[in-house]
Amino acid sequence: MNERKCAGCGQLKNKDELIKVTRQKQPGSVVINHSSKIFGRSVYLCYNISCIEASFKKNRLQRALKASIPDDLKGKLLNEL
Ligand SMILES: [Zn+2]
Repeated sequence: MNERKCAGCGQLKNKDELIKVTRQKQPGSVVINHSSKIFGRSVYLCYNISCIEASFKKNRLQRALKASIPDDLKGKLLNEL
């Protein structure tokens, strides 16, 4: 099954339609995972501003990844659009 849930809107979508954000096992940093070659706890987001914004509210991303979110991650995600 290739569907994943967006951490912003909660909709299920095909993995290809979502941005994958992964907490790398080492050194534990949170990165945008374009090729899915990085393994670790991951969340998915739709390619739209509202889902990205929503995922940063109430520390949703931080809680989902159980990691601190780098200050520049939101800007990087918005650059993906
Ligand atoms: Zn979404």
